[in-house]
Amino acid sequence: MRILVTGGAGFIGSHLLDRLMKEQHQVICLDNFYTGTKSNISKWMSDPNFEWIRHDVTEPIRLEVDQIYHLACPASPVHYQYNPIKTAKVSFLGTSNMLGLAKRVKARFLLASTFEVYGDPDVHPQPEEYHGNVNPIGIRSCYDEGKRIAETLSFDYHRQHDVEIRVARIFNTYGPRMLENDGRVVSNFIAQSLQGKALTIYGDGSQTRSFCYVTDLVDGLIKLMNGDQIGPINLGNPEEYTIAQLAQKVRDAIDPSREISFKPLPQDDPKQRKPDITKAKTLLNWQPTVSLETGLAQTIAEFKQRIQVQQECQSR
Ligand code: NAD
Ligand code: UDP
Repeated sequence: MRILVTGGAGFIGSHLLDRLMKEQHQVICLDNFYTGTKSNISKWMSDPNFEWIRHDVTEPIRLEVDQIYHLACPASPVHYQYNPIKTAKVSFLGTSNMLGLAKRVKARFLLASTFEVYGDPDVHPQPEEYHGNVNPIGIRSCYDEGKRIAETLSFDYHRQHDVEIRVARIFNTYGPRMLENDGRVVSNFIAQSLQGKALTIYGDGSQTRSFCYVTDLVDGLIKLMNGDQIGPINLGNPEEYTIAQLAQKVRDAIDPSREISFKPLPQDDPKQRKPDITKAKTLLNWQPTVSLETGLAQTIAEFKQRIQVQQECQSR
């Protein structure tokens, strides 16, 4: 199959590309390299089944493909809040351009949506039927509301133009190739521990998250794309941890003597989050298989290597 992956040079996108390339598909990676890197896709550059295009999804593009995985969008608060107006445009214009492409070439379209459509949830755990508790004017709104309109557009293209859509609501995902400076909690804690800095807990660390290892998530995305459920379907690991527990796990794995420093909790930071994955289990036959300990060990190993290379380059 000819498969387009927007945001394919990013963290999740590049792991998805790896799977699709190994399955012998023809893959086009479309990315503007805002948070993605060429090193994430470099191993495929000379493969005849692989192409990459530097392109911004807010501009239309014409391509012939059978499936579109639409992941292009900055995902960490640091990056999506850097230029919030652009973030909202990426979600609205970018998604409508890719849905327009899907309509024209009759491709199946999968939207990488997010748990953020639930906002700061007052239902726990969150099932897909929950409509959310989202602040429309806060500092996270460009992303949260952006993804909500992206879901709306997807369902309207489906109802109005019969576009075959799939909507995944992805929960916190972690793994190798996360940017060490992207501000997300797993990457922050690992990078801080490896660089000999104190781990920064925002608030008192009692807020909860559920962390899904990236290869599990990719497996879920591929199952959703190739199954007959349009979604939305939650994809995430239902094991829930407080941020303080996560800090302890990372310290235990790297250096238990690292200090912890407490910083103010960002505005609109959700208090608790855990996916209800009943639908993914029953309709896609999917559930995560990688434990937090195993996933963290693999992520730490890759960060260690990357940080070491960076330090060697700086000392030359
Ligand atoms: P990422 O920042 O690593 O990847 C996003 C990719 O999109 C990058 O390669 C970036 O360069 C590219 N991009 C950004 N704006 C673009 C534009 N205008 N045109 C073309 N390319 C553009 O983030 P990620 O964690 O890999 O997330 C991928 C997708 O999954 C995003 O849509 C995100 O909203 C969604 N998601 C991620 C998580 C998570 O925990 N990582 C959770 C929920 C949803
Ligand atoms: N967080 C933290 N220290 C950090 C980075 C994040 O305590 O260095 C907290 C953050 O306030 C949030 C949780 O960890 O409560 C998860 O943050 P992240 O940005 O990874 O994901 P999101 O808030 O989007 O779920």
